[in-house]
Amino acid sequence: MYDYDFFVIGAGSGGVRASRMAATYGAKVGLAEDYRVGGTCVIRGCVPKKLFVYASEYAAHFKDSAGFGWSEAEHSFDWKILKANKDTEIDRLEGLYGKNLDNHNVEVIKARGKMLDKHTIELTDASGSRTITADKILIATGAWPSFPDIPGIEHAISSNEVFEFEQLPKKITVVGGGYIAVEMAGIFNGLGVETSLLYRGEEILRGFDLEIRAKLREEMIKKGIDVRIHTNVDEIIPSGDEYLLKLSDGNETVTDCVMYATGRQANTSGIGLEEIGVELKDNGEIIVDKYYKSSVDNIFAVGDVIGGMQLTPIAIKEGAALTATQFNDTPTFVNYDHIPTAIFSQPPIGTVGLSEEDAREKYGDDLQVFRSEYKSMKFTLAGRDERSLIKLLVDGKTDKVIGAHMIGPDSAEIIQGIAIALKVGATKAQFDDTVAVHPSSAEEFVLMK
Ligand code: NDP
Repeated sequence: MYDYDFFVIGAGSGGVRASRMAATYGAKVGLAEDYRVGGTCVIRGCVPKKLFVYASEYAAHFKDSAGFGWSEAEHSFDWKILKANKDTEIDRLEGLYGKNLDNHNVEVIKARGKMLDKHTIELTDASGSRTITADKILIATGAWPSFPDIPGIEHAISSNEVFEFEQLPKKITVVGGGYIAVEMAGIFNGLGVETSLLYRGEEILRGFDLEIRAKLREEMIKKGIDVRIHTNVDEIIPSGDEYLLKLSDGNETVTDCVMYATGRQANTSGIGLEEIGVELKDNGEIIVDKYYKSSVDNIFAVGDVIGGMQLTPIAIKEGAALTATQFNDTPTFVNYDHIPTAIFSQPPIGTVGLSEEDAREKYGDDLQVFRSEYKSMKFTLAGRDERSLIKLLVDGKTDKVIGAHMIGPDSAEIIQGIAIALKVGATKAQFDDTVAVHPSSAEEFVLMK
């Protein structure tokens, strides 16, 4: 007999969902977390990030309001108020997560878990260590920001520290061109920080539709962000209260703060996995089969720790699929096709399906591209120089829509509905047959000729 039917290490999106579902199916469940319940998404990711995005958009909203007859009042921004209110909201959400787990009889243990053998876990907290045993074990330890090995990298921060800033820097340099880099650059810029973004490649947001990527860079530059492509940092040298950055293009720049957003590394070291035979990829991610089983038959893994798309809804779905398979006799796995995603850049991006480049490779001459570039109605009176872009990609042979991309206000909200259409295999004719919601930006999706 084991102490638990199911023991989960890591109380992030995947771990919380899996433990709650397993308990619903009747399992005795324990959950170890050495930090706060909620994981990256709730504590230092999606949720506080989005609150900061809202905060940072006000500067532009205030400016826009003049064209609608509002006289510009005096505005000032107080980071301390935003940070305190963000902290209160995150505390509230963490409390709700805890309550929910409690209501489902999941025993939450504030400790760090380490595998001793395939059924035994050592739990360590400030008061010492103890061991527990479990029949099935889930590793849902997520991922952590990774930094390149360059001289002076110890002076750089990740987005984690931004959520704890006591005050905003005057000047910041963001390194990277992925989700976090573009989102954070938008936040800093909106809050009045002099912001640079350095990206080593040809165009930010590799993997997304090229035209959308180029559009975002153009709009970020218009908003005042110093976006530099083909530029990386070779060395960070502290200089008084500032940092001198030696750049790969031979230039130098001085900044108050350097934030790296150069990807995330699976949290798999120091928790005894390899010692008990759990196979890892070269980059540290846990290798699992399609039912999230590792190379050890009672140990499973979901979420960022297995790689793939590091997105909260994916971790949640994987956690739910795993527990349906293991505790409800219903073999289930996640279908990774047509996963919509939003980037809360400014302007935001919503996307689902293939990029034009990938679609061209797969469908060749059968690919049909529909695009619409326009100025949002709100920006006409506002006088804001910002344009939106919507693209639909269609397989000419079947008329099926295989990709939908949008950059512009409300993209994240709009793409969710479009994703359902792609998921059920909607054709361009069916898009065209759908009555427009007027006047809206979303209607562009059904009006493209
Ligand atoms: P990403 O993988 O999105 O981007 C990493 C960026 O860093 C890329 O531009 C990459 O360049 C660059 N990079 C990698 N290594 C180096 C290096 N050694 N030197 C310079 N640049 C480098 O990672 P993020 O950290 O932005 O985000 C992690 C994950 O979190 C994302 O993949 C996403 O899944 C998730 N996330 C999702 C959000 C959302 O849903 N809105 C928001 C934030 C995060 P290159 O392209 O050349 O490889």
